[in-house]
Order: sequence, then structure tokens, then C-alpha cells
Amino acid sequence: MLSAELLIDDVAVSATGDATFDRLDPVTREVATRAAAASVEDAIHAANVAARTFPIWSATPPTERRACLNRAADLLLARTDDFIDAIITETGGTRGWAIFNCRLAANILREAAAMTTQLTGETIPSDKPGCFAMSTRQPCGVVLSMAPWNAPVILAIRSIAMPLACGNTVVLKGSELSPRTHGLIGEVMSKAGMPAGTLNIIHSCPEIAPGVVEALIAHPAIRRVNFTGSTRVGRIIAEKGAKHLKPCLLELGGKAPLVVLDDADLDAAVAAAMFGAFFHQGQICMSTERIIVDETIADAFVEKFSAKAAGIRASDPRDPECVLGAMISEQAAQRVKGLIDDAIVKGAKRVTGGRQNGVYVDPTILDGVNPTMRLYYEESFGPIASIIRVSDVEEAVSVANDSEYGLAASVFGRDVGRALTIAQRLETGICHINAATIQDEPQMPFGGMKSSGYGRFGGKAGIDAFTELRWITIQTGVQSYPI
Ligand code: NAD
Repeated sequence: MLSAELLIDDVAVSATGDATFDRLDPVTREVATRAAAASVEDAIHAANVAARTFPIWSATPPTERRACLNRAADLLLARTDDFIDAIITETGGTRGWAIFNCRLAANILREAAAMTTQLTGETIPSDKPGCFAMSTRQPCGVVLSMAPWNAPVILAIRSIAMPLACGNTVVLKGSELSPRTHGLIGEVMSKAGMPAGTLNIIHSCPEIAPGVVEALIAHPAIRRVNFTGSTRVGRIIAEKGAKHLKPCLLELGGKAPLVVLDDADLDAAVAAAMFGAFFHQGQICMSTERIIVDETIADAFVEKFSAKAAGIRASDPRDPECVLGAMISEQAAQRVKGLIDDAIVKGAKRVTGGRQNGVYVDPTILDGVNPTMRLYYEESFGPIASIIRVSDVEEAVSVANDSEYGLAASVFGRDVGRALTIAQRLETGICHINAATIQDEPQMPFGGMKSSGYGRFGGKAGIDAFTELRWITIQTGVQSYPI
């Protein structure tokens, strides 16, 4: 059994009253991790420690902050085997998924490290005689970061890397579904050389978590909030943020469309659809949920796609041959099965897959998905690809935009100019031409529109999110006033 303490002031501590909660292994149903269950008091203590450390970390020279983040990247990669163990045990993800998490997370840290010297401002011409005016960027204070279980290393590191690079201190609230994985991040970061209290990590049991989050958002030292998770909880975070006037960066759910035009390279589109729909069992916010195919090439596309998907079955992530692992819980697998059954009852054709066995759901392709079916609108967060056939480009654009979500999208077509025109009309924060909906690079502006949230992580956009932009003037001559 794994364990996870809280990390407060660089010390691994128990929660008040030694309260704990258990995270079960989704495959074996045994206790995977016994984790400290932070109380509201523990959370407030963490925020107070972060507030106390802010003057030290924010005054640490940028090259020193850079060195800490680069060291953290090396330390994280050195613990890859521990992350693999924790991710398989807590979330049912595959070994490959865990390795991918560690590599991308290390790159996110390195990119953030490179940004520490980029907190630049500008001089601005003033109309006032003798006035020298400038804008400056400076750290905000304590940032509250909240990360989910699905890409537990990537998304937790993303939530803290740029805030730290900008000189803020952080309270990270990890997921109750991956406490050990998020706890390992604390072990890594606390060896990176940052002052004690710069990064504090808590997690709590599901019943207490809402109160803990509310207390943190209300805490006067918390100046920025970022949340990655569902749209349902994102709305709650936005409401609490509004009440306390705390700016929020929200990275929420998705329902990514992949548009296959009549001139698409079908093999390339099928390869992208396979990866986009089924990688990590479809539990990625950018997962391809809707495949919108021109009817003239739809039969050929579906045939090729089904031939590829039919060979894969979900299996135990501990099996070295495993390609698709477990879902996060049996309940999640049953919800996905419910969406499949609802679509089939309402007339969708099962092309392949559809089997659910405990936590396992095989890659599933359903053809003829339409708006009467829950699957057309709801985020499945599972390995289901819905095929929607359309008669022309106008219908493709209108179906792609017929969603409350707007995170990622793809367009496949050999006429790249036409594909670009379509990409520009899609209501998503991210769109790739002739590539999968799932892509992530630390320097890119990552974020969504509509119910997928607002704000951007990544590169310079992250500096905007985690610094205060200020206007400073110096009066060099004598100024006259009207009174
Ligand atoms: P979730 O929203 O169900 O849970 C996130 C966290 O919210 C939990 O850890 C819990 O502690 C907290 N929470 C629950 N109720 C709360 C309340 N009332 N007040 C405050 N906090 C509360 O999300 P999840 O299941 O962990 O993650 C899956 C979702 O995340 C999917 O919808 C997925 O699309 C989305 N996601 C988005 C991105 C992105 O970058 N846009 C990335 C990954 C995942």
C-alpha cells in the first residue's frame, strides 16, 4: 500500500487528527494509497505558509528560480519508476501513459524555467510633460492550483510550473483519486532547492474537498486560482472566485471534433482518430469524441478505422502487452456503457467494440450518431468514437460547433487552404490541421472556449495569467496641478 502525506513548509505531515482517506486500485479494488485528508484548518495553514514564503521566493533572482525548476525536471525524470507505479496503481493508466506524463511534465518545468527572465514590461509614451511611464509585471502572491487525476503528472506540474516561474508561491490541491502521484510531485519539488513553503501540497477526502477549496479561494493571500477538471466543478470554482473577486483560469471538459473532408488522406485521418479517440481510454480533455465525416468518403473511412480498432482490447495495465488500460472506476465504465447503449437503442450502428467488463471498455466505434442521443452532446471521457456523416463543408462546420464545449479540434483535408478556412470557423481554443486532436507542448497557448473554460496555460500566455500588470510612472520635472 502506498501512502501520501501533506506537504506543508517542506515537511511531509499528517492531517489534523491524523485523518486519512483511502484510494482504491481501480483494477484490484484493494487499497492503493492511504492518504492524509486535509481539513479546512490544514488548508488555511498551507496558505499561510505560502503567504509567509512569498516575499522570499518572489525576491529570488530569476536565474535561481530557473535553476530550481530545471533541477525539478531532472529529479522528476529520475523518479519515473515511482510515478509509473503510482499511476498504474491509483488510476489504471498504462506504463506508457505514465512515462509520457513524466517526459512532458519535465518539459513543462524546463519551459517554465526558461520564462523566468521573460517577465517583461514596456515604456509607454505619456502626454504629461516630464512623465516617464512604464508597465511592469510582478508576481501576484499565493496561487491556488487544482489538478485532476487523468494526466496526473502533466496537469499538476502545469498548474504549478508557470506560477512558480513567475515568483508566486503555491498551494496545490491534488486529486483524491491520485494522492500518491500528486504527493510524489511534492517529494520531487522539495528537493529542487526552493525555499521551504514555496510549494505546499494538500489533498482531502471527497466529502471535505468542497469546503477546503472554498476556504482557500476565500483566503486573503490567495490571489489567483487555476482549476483543471470538469465543467460542473469549474462552474462552482468560477462562482466562488467571483464572490471573492479572485481571477480564475479554468481548463474544463471537451468534446473534440475531428472533421474528415472529402479530400482527406484517409490513412492519416484514421491513424489520428485511433490515437485521438482511444489513447488513455479516451480520458483526455482533448480526446476525439466526434468524427465528422463527409458522406462521400465515410464508408471507406469507417472500414479502415474499424479494421484498426477491432484488434485492440482493454486489459490490465500491469500486463506488459497492454495498449488500453482500465478506466478510472467501474462507475465511469458503466456510465460510458450507458452512453453506448442509449445511442444504440436510438439507432446508432455499433461498428466495433461496445464491451464493458468491470473497469474495462473496449475501443468502440458507433456510426450514425445524432442529436437525439446523449452521446452527441455529453462528454463521454471514455474510448468511444461517434461517427457523424455530413453532406458538405457547411454542415461539417455547423455540426462541429454544435456543442457547449470548445477545447480542441482537428480538420483533415489535402487542400490545406480550405482546411485552414474551416479551422478558423471552429469555436475551439485549439485546432490542428492534418493531425490528431490530442497534442500538448509547454510553449503553446493551451485552453478552451465556451464551456471548456477560459484563460490559457503555456508560454507567454502563462505569464499573463500569473503576474500582475502594473502602470508605474516617474515624474521628472515639476508638475502643475489645477488645484
Ligand atoms: P472533477 O471536476 O470531477 O473533479 C476535480 C476536483 O474538484 C476533485 O478533485 C474535487 O476535489 C473537486 N471538487 C469536487 N466537488 C467540488 C466542489 N463542490 N467544490 C470545489 N471542488 C470540488 O474532475 P475530474 O473527474 O478530476 O477530471 C475529469 C474532467 O477534467 C473531465 O471533464 C476532463 O475533460 C477535464 N479535464 C480538462 C483538462 C483541460 O486542460 N481542459 C485537462 C484534463 C481534464
